[in-house]
Amino acid sequence: AKSSGRGRAERFDDRYAAEASARLRLDAELRHALANDELICVYHPEIDLAGGGLYALEALVRWQHPSRGLLSPDDFVPHAETVGLIGILFEQVLDQVLTAQDKWETEFGWRPTVAVNVSPRQLTDSRLVKVVLAALEAHDAPASALILEVTETALVDDSVMTGTLAELRRHGVAVAVDDFGTGYSSVSRLADRHWDALKIDRSFVSGITEDPAREGVVHAMIALAHALQLRAIAEGVEDEPTLAKLRELGCDAAQGYLYTRPVDAAEISKMIIRSPQ
Ligand code: C2E
Ligand code: CA
Ligand code: CA
Ligand code: CA
Repeated sequence: AKSSGRGRAERFDDRYAAEASARLRLDAELRHALANDELICVYHPEIDLAGGGLYALEALVRWQHPSRGLLSPDDFVPHAETVGLIGILFEQVLDQVLTAQDKWETEFGWRPTVAVNVSPRQLTDSRLVKVVLAALEAHDAPASALILEVTETALVDDSVMTGTLAELRRHGVAVAVDDFGTGYSSVSRLADRHWDALKIDRSFVSGITEDPAREGVVHAMIALAHALQLRAIAEGVEDEPTLAKLRELGCDAAQGYLYTRPVDAAEISKMIIRSPQ
């Protein structure tokens, strides 16, 4: 019994060591990726449900890993947050977004609005405003074509965060509450006028055509958004009946695989050519 107990302890140590070395490798590789432009952006359209045109594009980061292929943000964004690399990641994403917008503007004569995800810890960091304003200035780009998406779980009572959001919006950058419904924000926090839109989480959107209770919840979320003078955007729309229902409920915009998977900037150009504004 004694020896089998020790065996278990050793196996545990081995696993711990394996995890630690995987983490170290990820860390080194991510630093290398940031220094060598291995991170790329794909874009996921949000469609305006009243007019049928493009409401905005959401930028989603991918890692073109030299040996493991295209990695999803879930594989490296949490690590970037933990080790303090999220600021650099954000700067690279923002620069790619502004470069893509410049290109679309020369191609089409108008600048599609792009939403960029920010991590909770960036909001309590006073550098965010400077970074955003410097990037806009470097590209001579209007703040009005930029949206920052902030997950609802990040909406804590923090004076730096409140100040950051207020200053960004004073400069014309829009802010959307992402994954709405998954956090615990109070109505008073939502009503404090730092927001432009609520993005209703996919977990609420999927299933609204089968479950009247879910439909009721999404209806109430849209009504809440409108009562607060915010746009309501539904994420994760995968089929026509769901889209029709959202339209009926007065939702402003929708995003999901029904329209397309996230695609690269060149693919967005082709889509804009096919359906001009
Ligand atoms: P999110 O902001 O909630 O982004 C939506 C995610 O849902 C994306 O996954 C998107 O591809 C996926 N999605 C959209 N429509 C559908 C649909 O109809 N069906 C299904 N099944 N999925 C759909 P992705 O690209 O893997 O992103 C995952 C998360 O990673 C994002 O969730 C966001 O929180 C984070 N993320 C992505 N890019 C960045 C970034 O540049 N910075 C930071 N901080 N986080 C990012
Ligand atoms: Ca998002
Ligand atoms: Ca989302
Ligand atoms: Ca979500």
